[in-house]
Amino acid sequence: LSLPETEKTGNRVTVFVRVRPISKKEKEAGSRCCVRIVNPRDVYLTEFVNPNDYLRLKRIRGRHFTFDACFPDSATQQEVYSTSTSELVEGVLQGRNGTVFCYGATGAGKTYTMLGTVESPGVMVLAIKDLFRKIKTRSCDGNHAVHLSYLEVYNETVRDLISPGRSLVLREDKQVMTLLQQGNHNRTTEPTCANETSSRSHAVLQVVVEYQVRDAAMNIINSVGKLSLVDLAGSERALATDQRTLRSLEGANINRSLLALSCCINALVDGKKHIPYRNSKLTQLLKDSLGGTCSTVMIASISPSNLSSGETQNTLHWADRAK
Ligand code: ADP
Ligand code: MG
Repeated sequence: LSLPETEKTGNRVTVFVRVRPISKKEKEAGSRCCVRIVNPRDVYLTEFVNPNDYLRLKRIRGRHFTFDACFPDSATQQEVYSTSTSELVEGVLQGRNGTVFCYGATGAGKTYTMLGTVESPGVMVLAIKDLFRKIKTRSCDGNHAVHLSYLEVYNETVRDLISPGRSLVLREDKQVMTLLQQGNHNRTTEPTCANETSSRSHAVLQVVVEYQVRDAAMNIINSVGKLSLVDLAGSERALATDQRTLRSLEGANINRSLLALSCCINALVDGKKHIPYRNSKLTQLLKDSLGGTCSTVMIASISPSNLSSGETQNTLHWADRAK
């Protein structure tokens, strides 16, 4: 039984929001909290953005947003990992591909969520640990090989952050944090104003799991699954969401890969036939990991401070469009 053509819908993207704790700097600047999670799925912006932001945002949708889950500032790294990504790790072991993105303005908590710290490792590290744990406890025999690459997309150039020229074979999960921290240190950053460093680069961790086993008739069965975990560039300069805008902004100081990703995700959720993967380096890298049978997860990071309410509204609006 197949669905009639008209009932076919687009791909589903699972969308989460994570609010980080208010920072010392924000407190000292006298900021108030302007984000309220009213129940596990709903988030409410309690203050309007300033009038300038309001004019800038032509297609404003309001202040109340519903997502698959909203993580409050008390949520642990493990909670975020379990809810957002553990299912995708399971899928990779079954030979499926999946992608997790972290989207948001600079300082909103993307790198904390994806990489984290030694004391509180993030999604990338927890996913690899979980993967090795699952491989070890798998009941069937057969051989697993885990390959890892950590790439940066900056100014439409792809650069290897840990092992230039070769993909890394990972034998255990012990050194992953160190490896990724070193890689992150190699990321390109660019100062945007006197006391701020903004990252315009995307960091893409790809973990490929190959599994080989012989069936009863001694035929070799091969399964390959890929998990992509992406710490996106700061979203503060990328508001445009459609193809036309993307073209008109060419050459402007706007992140092409971020815009192209928005276009692909919107095309996927709208059920479009043509997905414009070829428009940027980031979307080319993720071509086999978005859409189709792949699982796509988006984690939108936001600050709770009213001083960032404009960016927060942009991020929530963008995430809302990705559903
Ligand atoms: P981004 O990568 O989006 O620019 P960061 O992840 O670097 O932002 O976060 C900015 C600051 O806030 C960092 O000092 C980070 O450690 C801290 N931070 C972010 N999220 C959390 C969190 N959930 N809990 C505690 N500290 C956080
Ligand atoms: Mg960062």
